[in-house]
Parts: sequence; C-alpha cells; structure tokens
Amino acid sequence: MSKCYNCDTTLTESNRSVEHIILNAVGGRLKSSDLLCVGCNSKMGNSADAELAKQFQFLSGHLQVKRDNGAIPTTKGGKLADGTEINLLSGITPSLAKPKFSVEQEGDKLVYNVVARSDKEMKTILEGIAKKHTQFDVNHAMSKARKGVERLKEPVSFSQVFGGKLAFRSIAKTAVNFYLYNKGDKENIRHLLPYLFEKDDLDVVKHFHSKKSLYKKEAGEIIHLLHIVGNKHDKVLYCYVEFFSTHSYLIMLSEKYNGKNIRYTYAYNIISKSVVEKKVNLKISRDTFNKLSSGMQDYFLLVKEKTDRIMKIANKIHTNREIDNITSRAIKDIFEIKYGHEELITQQMIDEFTERIANDMVEFMYGNDVKDI
Ligand SMILES: [Zn+2]
Repeated sequence: MSKCYNCDTTLTESNRSVEHIILNAVGGRLKSSDLLCVGCNSKMGNSADAELAKQFQFLSGHLQVKRDNGAIPTTKGGKLADGTEINLLSGITPSLAKPKFSVEQEGDKLVYNVVARSDKEMKTILEGIAKKHTQFDVNHAMSKARKGVERLKEPVSFSQVFGGKLAFRSIAKTAVNFYLYNKGDKENIRHLLPYLFEKDDLDVVKHFHSKKSLYKKEAGEIIHLLHIVGNKHDKVLYCYVEFFSTHSYLIMLSEKYNGKNIRYTYAYNIISKSVVEKKVNLKISRDTFNKLSSGMQDYFLLVKEKTDRIMKIANKIHTNREIDNITSRAIKDIFEIKYGHEELITQQMIDEFTERIANDMVEFMYGNDVKDI
C-alpha cells in the first residue's frame, strides 16, 4: 500500500491524487497516483509549476503540444514592431490580443477606425460609439465592415526568460517525483521536502548543457527526458531533466546517498507521442555539480543551436498542416458551397479548384508580395 511521501498518510481511493511527473502543460504524459495525497498535492509548488509552464508556453504551443484534456492553450505576449499585442490561438494562429481602436478628426468629422476580432466584439464597440453620437447608425456600420482573415505580413516577437528560482522548484519536484515513482527510498530526498513546499530555499538545480549530446538523437524527434543516477561510491543521487530536447537541468537530490547504484531513464517523444528508449551517458561528481553556473548566459549558443533545430521541425509540421487546410478550405468553398447543388463534377469546377489551390499556395509560400512582381 502506498503512502503520501510528504505526510505519510496511507493513500486510498478517496485521498489519492494524480501527479504529473512531467508537467501536463509541456505535454508530459508520465503520471502516478501513488505519490501524494490530495491535500499535499494542492499545497505543493503550484506557483512554481505555473511559472515553468509559462516559460514553455511558446514552445508547447508552437509544437502543438496538447494537454490531457485535448486543448492547446492560447500563447500570450507576442508583439509586432509597432507594439500591437498578438496572441497565438491554439498556440499557433495569430490574433489581436485586444481590439484596435483609434479616432481622428477629419475636417468637421470624427473618423473612428475599429478592428475587432468578432462580429459580437465589433457590435459592442460600435454601440459604445453610438452612445456618444446619437446619429451614428450601428447596423449601417456593421454592414459596411470588412470581414476576413489576413495573413500576418511581419514577424511576431516573443521574449522569454528561462530558469529562475521559481521554475527551478518545479523542476526539482519533477526529479523527486521521478525518483519516488521508481521506488526510490524517501529518506534520500526527505531534506528536499521543505524546499518543494516553498518553506526553504536550496541551490540544488542548475542549468546543465553538455557539449556532447548525452544520448543519440534521431532525426525529427523532440523529447522530454528524465535520467536518475544514484552512485554509491561517490555518495551522490542526481537527476538530469531535459525539456523539448533543448532546455536541460541537473538536480542534486542527495550528497549523502547511501543506496545502491541505480540508473533510471524515461524519454517521451512529443512529436510521435510515444515513449522511446534512450541510453544516457552521464556521470557527474559532486565537485562538477558545484562548479556549474546557475545562470543560463554561459550556455546561450548551445541553447540557440538546439532551439533552431526544433523550430525547423515545428515549421515543417506547420507547413504540412497549412497545406491540408488550404486543400480542405478549397474543397469546402468550391465543391460544397458554390457548386453543392450540382450533381456532377464539371471541368469548370476542377479548373476553379486548381486555380484556387495554386493561388493560396503561392500566397502561403511567398506572402502577398508576389502579386506586385
Ligand atoms: Zn500528504
């Protein structure tokens, strides 16, 4: 029978909780209901988890990582060069973070420029204007509004911080959970519990980027990896945690380890959505750990290289997805909406369909600029 590793309460059907060992927000699928009671789980590191999830929100959305409930949340915080705030709906589709509104004086007229994200939002704004100007006709303005979807013509920028004390706490929790999930002895990590419950501060997590890859990377794979090492001779117990094949950390779980030699690895490919086998080559001494920097600046180039790799993989996924979208939109518009009443497919329909696909593909690949050439 398992017990809550924090309060030692025996876990029953009514008090056990499901703990994601790797955050669900980054696509973690490994979970256990044998670790924590509901009470302890709710008190443990929620703000730390939220901070880590925020740091990986852009990557999770960009790689279309789904939560257990099937959702891909909106990524917030994007900006255009002029400061316009942009959100990425479902992690990928750019949308204004809020409606745009401006008013100018033109001679004796006031000109309102409004860009809204839906009919409903537009109507609410126009009704607001009508309150100030009684002669303003909301329905007429609504009928004149131009509706449509535009491709973004300039890049959206996101700024991102990785690491920091709060996020490190969540990463330490992942390491502890993974150790206990593998039936590790609780006594070896007991000293970390106050830290995980935000009652203490410890320096047990560091950014860790090895120049040589610690395992063999396959083409196109992006993985989350956990690797625990217990070394009896050196008296150390540590965990290597890697997210998105890019951001990696080392967590010192114990410097007084007296258990047997152990190595446990878990690797999950977020692209194929499957657990994969990895042989990890890692050996760290206490001295090496203590020499590691807790900042990320020293690893900037290594992280950039790894980020470039996963962005290329993500772009490939997006391209395939957009080609599917272009095809299905053309089928719907031409065969279902425009010619839905016709029984036979005619040459005219096929020509229109082909032309539409060609135009949309050119626009997608080269942007609107191609029309000016
Ligand atoms: Zn408990």
